[in-house]
Amino acid sequence: PPSPRPPSELQLHDVFIAVKTTRAFHRSRLELLLDTWVSRTREQTFIFTDGLDEVLQERLGSHLVVTNCSAEHSHPALSCKMAAELDAFLASGLRWFCHVDDDNYLNPRALLKLLKAFPRAQDVYVGRPSLNRPIHASEPQPRNRTRLVQFWFATGGAGFCINRKLALKMAPWASGPRFMDTSALIRLPDDCTVGYIVECKLGGHLRPSPLFHSHLETLQLLGAAQLPEQVTLSYGIFEGKLNVIKLHGPFSPEEDPSRFRSLHCLLYPETPWCPQLVAR
Ligand code: UDP
Ligand code: MN
Repeated sequence: PPSPRPPSELQLHDVFIAVKTTRAFHRSRLELLLDTWVSRTREQTFIFTDGLDEVLQERLGSHLVVTNCSAEHSHPALSCKMAAELDAFLASGLRWFCHVDDDNYLNPRALLKLLKAFPRAQDVYVGRPSLNRPIHASEPQPRNRTRLVQFWFATGGAGFCINRKLALKMAPWASGPRFMDTSALIRLPDDCTVGYIVECKLGGHLRPSPLFHSHLETLQLLGAAQLPEQVTLSYGIFEGKLNVIKLHGPFSPEEDPSRFRSLHCLLYPETPWCPQLVAR
């Protein structure tokens, strides 16, 4: 009999990328992503929002997922979106789930390189630990008792990934309405809830990666040569100042305050709107 074919090498189209956004950020944040990295990952990227937007619908079609989640920054509203992301991933049949916020730049090449390195047979939950120690939560027990639990979690604002093998095991606590129930039980936000399910319910572990970045860190500290290797980057305001990666051009800070357009031209110089280098 013919020997079984080895599993094919991981490709970008095996990865399900979920972007969390809200109606108010469609113009101010999402368009920047669509113009930059999402243009390279269109087929596997899905945008999870909370309000109809005809302009965006036109541009994204079925890749815009308008959830029934409320447009609030509350734990339930954010967990509702994470639940929708996980359910859509489970239904997609793809090999990897990656979540990012709408202020993240995701580098598809660096992402693929990272994910390819994990053995197929293992459960994987990879991202940047939010704190330098595990978080504590109290888990309600029968007869009005509680149990103190500790676990690590990947900060949602830096993005994280989970493979299908692990996601399937998470389903009893994470699929359908159960993700919101789990989040309500421990009274913690969506990203903490993911860590709780993986570590406390399944005995798994977060694999810390320094390649994921949120705007809670000082982004200027990354050297220019390191930028192309990072899986995610971000931007934001910290103490009244813009916290962004340090990159000289091609666009000025006024034209490109987040620096994402400049980064995109560094990674993909052939992009039509990037200033083309003239061969001499
Ligand atoms: N967000 C949301 N609903 C809200 C506010 C924010 O879904 O009411 C999303 C937002 O689009 C982003 C993430 O939650 O993807 C984090 O929001 P933000 O960057 O504004 O806050 P942070 O927690 O990073 O300070
Ligand atoms: Mn943010």
